[in-house]
Amino acid sequence: MKKHNFSAGPCILPDEVLKKASEAVINFNNDNLSLIEISHRSKAFVDVIEKARSLALELLGLKNKGYKALFLQGGASNQFLMTAYNLLNKKAAYLNTGTWSSKAIKEAKLFGELIEVASSKDQNFNYIPKGYKVPTDVDYFHCTSNNTIYGTQMKDFPETNVPFICDMSSDIFSRQLDFSKFDLIYAGAQKNMGPAGTTLVIVKEEILGKVERIIPSMLNYQVFIDKDSMFNTPPVFAVYTSMLTLEWLKDLGGIEFIEKVNEQKSALLYSEIDRNPLFNGVVVKEDRSHMNATFTLTNNNLKEKFDAMWKETNINGLDGHRSIGGYRASMYNALPLYSVQALVDVMQELERIA
Ligand SMILES: *Cc1c(COP(=O)(O)O)cnc(C)c1O
Repeated sequence: MKKHNFSAGPCILPDEVLKKASEAVINFNNDNLSLIEISHRSKAFVDVIEKARSLALELLGLKNKGYKALFLQGGASNQFLMTAYNLLNKKAAYLNTGTWSSKAIKEAKLFGELIEVASSKDQNFNYIPKGYKVPTDVDYFHCTSNNTIYGTQMKDFPETNVPFICDMSSDIFSRQLDFSKFDLIYAGAQKNMGPAGTTLVIVKEEILGKVERIIPSMLNYQVFIDKDSMFNTPPVFAVYTSMLTLEWLKDLGGIEFIEKVNEQKSALLYSEIDRNPLFNGVVVKEDRSHMNATFTLTNNNLKEKFDAMWKETNINGLDGHRSIGGYRASMYNALPLYSVQALVDVMQELERIA
């Protein structure tokens, strides 16, 4: 039986996606060739990447609104650099909500002046700062919508007139938002969309072309837009598998549908964390993530017991990030509700026997 997979990333993908992806590696489109041994310029693959780009825009409600969808390489981490390279002339504003924001800030500092509008570092990033203002004289504002490591998630986004950039690696396609508020969204595929190896970038074309520096081709959004994501060989397997996941999501009923399931899953787990005296939630309640729930044991002497119990229950990937410890249950789109129930059952069993 497949394990209950709470891995934070690379993460669980739908069974039918894994099945179709593995079949395509052997025999793609019944053409007696593997997906990964045909030309990326063949019609068969061009159809795949076009479909993936189109589905991404469609699911986010951004079709025909001046946005381009790109499948790039280098992970979300490369976007920390690429966003600044393409958009930072003099000054940019960042919200610091954890490890990933901090890394984005570090890279952007190579290109200009950085204004940290707010930070939750004072409380080990266990909340989302509020009430800050985004300056109007900056080239852009950058934030991280979901903090995969700490388990916080932005529920509201500031109003701003400057270009708005968001790292949505760990919650894209998981909830309804007005995505047209953003001018550039990026997301490493391996959290909620596909395997590692590609990063989805959604960019409003009109914000580009405003910096004076010369941008190397491989880091230049416009180059990839002009070549339809095919400036060089794209990561064909990662793009194909992402396309399958986006198709799966569309067939289920899109973001509107999955958001309800995600809310059910996180409500089930958080209510157990709050009810069960053996567990504590790590982050401020109103900022809790629907994707990554972080929690600790109130009595660390129970750790060995609890760890053995969830492992016996066929649960995978519950250890907290190495930088904060405790536990982290990642409940991405493909994780079924019954997996969360299995975890809650173990938590209740621990309470009974402790
Ligand atoms: C995982 C993650 C990253 C880094 O992604 P890579 O693809 O490994 O570079 C960046 N931001 C967020 C929010 C993440 O969850």
